[in-house]
Amino acid sequence: MLFCDDPSLYGYPVLPALPPMPTVLSRVAWGAKAPNVALMHRHRIRFITIHHTGTPQKPLMLLERKLANLQLFSQREDKLASGKTKPAWGDVPYHFYISTDGRIGVGRPLEWAGDTNTEYDPTGHALIVIEGMLDTEPFFEAQKKSLYELVLFLAARYEVPPRRIKGHQDYAETDCPGSKAMEELPRLRRAVANRRS
Ligand SMILES: [Zn+2]
Repeated sequence: MLFCDDPSLYGYPVLPALPPMPTVLSRVAWGAKAPNVALMHRHRIRFITIHHTGTPQKPLMLLERKLANLQLFSQREDKLASGKTKPAWGDVPYHFYISTDGRIGVGRPLEWAGDTNTEYDPTGHALIVIEGMLDTEPFFEAQKKSLYELVLFLAARYEVPPRRIKGHQDYAETDCPGSKAMEELPRLRRAVANRRS
């Protein structure tokens, strides 16, 4: 008797198993307010784009609090440090937030396109923000580990090829996500490529 473990021979498609979804802090857990969906639009994920917050790290503040503060800021019109006025957004601009301790918080639900103060269209982008100013502050190992887990999962789940995993500065005039995150991107893309092959 011949045994074969290739399931495609039995007439159903071979789907590679997804890498594990990392543990995330849900919107309920951080006390998210409802999104204002009138200001948002739906999209389909085709890119993964990395950001940093560009503000000083707050290792003593809980992720729950950081996300609640970010949502408050996001949903109101506000003056930016640059002097520009930012309009009210429907929700936090990013889909995931990685705090200094490596915890991952769920921001805007993935089915809704994100927002930006810069000149690019984030439609189709899964937006991940890493806490800190990653030119001058540390890019913590715990943050890197979470970034890899999250990107490997999202890339597999939404079939995003490595070439569409980039930093914010690849699309717009900005220093975001900082040199330390930009240096990590080639390795991150390789990890995704290895996982696909
Ligand atoms: Zn950015």
